[in-house]
Amino acid sequence: MRRPMVAGNWKMHGTRATNKALLNELQQRISEDWAIDIAVFPPFVYISDVLRIVEGEAIAVGAQNVSAEAPGAFTGEVAAAMLKDLGCTHVIVGHSERRRLYGEDDGVVARKFAAVLAAKMTPVLCVGETLEERDANQTQAVVARQLDAVLRMSGIASLAKAIIAYEPVWAIGTGLPATPQMASEVHASLRAEIAARFGPGVAATLRILYGGSVSPASAPGLFAEEEVDGGLVGNASLVAKDVSALLAAAAAPAPRA
Ligand code: PEP
Repeated sequence: MRRPMVAGNWKMHGTRATNKALLNELQQRISEDWAIDIAVFPPFVYISDVLRIVEGEAIAVGAQNVSAEAPGAFTGEVAAAMLKDLGCTHVIVGHSERRRLYGEDDGVVARKFAAVLAAKMTPVLCVGETLEERDANQTQAVVARQLDAVLRMSGIASLAKAIIAYEPVWAIGTGLPATPQMASEVHASLRAEIAARFGPGVAATLRILYGGSVSPASAPGLFAEEEVDGGLVGNASLVAKDVSALLAAAAAPAPRA
């Protein structure tokens, strides 16, 4: 059985004080009985602070972005080796805001994915279609293309060390999540594509998170789907009581058994 994960993408939010308050409240709300992985992705400048606050706790800390380059003359960039050096264990690559607002194409995302693996961290690869692509029945082709770019560079074995987040662009930050059936269908298609090309082993163990307006209201339905291994969460990850509701939904044993 795949272990569920709830990962909070804080985006460009927070201050030192609000981060501390959020994490302290979260630490009080987390139950040791929940068999789930928890990760937070603060802005770069707060990663060290956050690592200190969660030291000794079962909360992984990751980065929202990374340079595709090795350390060198790249003003303003942060290398994977630096994130590893700090203590990060995960890095988000290919988030739709990076693809859309900063022009990261499949090739750049593939290089970032490879850089994260080379630094011995876990890439969280975001894939997902726009509304126009969904309306044109291109969802499966789009997510397959985004995944394929990474596989061509890093190989199938890389998936054993990665997490995929299916994040339909139209659902991110809109308050309109995919239905559990929609999410399940895309996750199943990704898994089937991987199984068909490379055999069932990697496909069966690969964690595929859903992201896009996950909230305490939508999480129970989404996370109850066999195909949905938890969530990558933006807005709701900034509110401790919402996060604990999501964690409880991801940990709920009955539907996932
Ligand atoms: C995200 O940005 O990864 C995300 C899922 O955001 P939200 O939960 O706010 O839709």
